[in-house]
Amino acid sequence: MTLHYDLHCHSTYSDGLLAPAELVQRAGVRGVDVLALTDHDETSGLAEARSAAMDAGVRFIDGSELSVSWRDITLHVVALGIDPDCAALSEGLETIRHGRTLRAERMGEGLAAAGIPGAYDGAMQFVTSARLISRTHFARFLVDTGRARDTRDVFRRYLVRGKPGYVPHQWATLSQAIGWIHTAGGQAVLAHPGRYEVDGKMRELLSEFKDTGGDAIEVLSPSHTPAQYTEFARYARVFGMMASSGSDFHGPGESWADLGDMPALPAGLTPVWKDW
Ligand code: AMP
Ligand code: MN
Ligand code: MN
Ligand code: MN
Repeated sequence: MTLHYDLHCHSTYSDGLLAPAELVQRAGVRGVDVLALTDHDETSGLAEARSAAMDAGVRFIDGSELSVSWRDITLHVVALGIDPDCAALSEGLETIRHGRTLRAERMGEGLAAAGIPGAYDGAMQFVTSARLISRTHFARFLVDTGRARDTRDVFRRYLVRGKPGYVPHQWATLSQAIGWIHTAGGQAVLAHPGRYEVDGKMRELLSEFKDTGGDAIEVLSPSHTPAQYTEFARYARVFGMMASSGSDFHGPGESWADLGDMPALPAGLTPVWKDW
């Protein structure tokens, strides 16, 4: 029997809308056999998810999605199979989360200068874990106050490079992030590579990711078109990296895909779960 994997999703411990236990239950109902919870820069939802997974008959993988700066681009690196108690990883994630708070204050200032006062406090109303604030929380506030139609519209108008709520930020370096993941016994997966605006430098990015110790590419992601499934499957083969798959689910009504929605991996790839 082929197992059904979903190795990328978010709970209320970062910018998802469901608590870890609800997420795991939903995954079980939707036919996911193996689930990783990958909250942004955070591992504190993992214990709750793991105990819910026992009841739901879902095999659970401890994960996180780390924010990384590579040149002037923000990358996301999904960590799979980490030890959540690893000190190097926890300290690294804590530093990243602190950076998020500083960035959020500056985002509030940028939006105030553009005629939207109170956005930091407003975003805080949408935060579901005192430890983590993200652009998504600003997006929910801006939609709620009628500044935009939905979260996609709000990102386009306010929260991406060149817009008033965008603040350039230095996250962890690629080698720090991969180092912490490996120290914690996990695998490092380049999340949704099709989303990065690398201007023809995808090969450079992938070879640097691989040289830094990167283990896998997230080939299947709702951020990718079917043509990109094929493109990143080819990159995974060419660079000798494993392949991963995840829905990047954030919550009902707010996501491109639901839990377990990704198709089977294209042929000829080594799945990141090969030795699990
Ligand atoms: P941050 O890590 O705080 O910069 O926020 C990134 C998060 O914002 C992503 O994980 C998504 O959840 C969300 N996001 C980014 N771009 C978009 C978009 N265009 N539409 C909706 N959500 C987005
Ligand atoms: Mn997110
Ligand atoms: Mn991401
Ligand atoms: Mn994600």
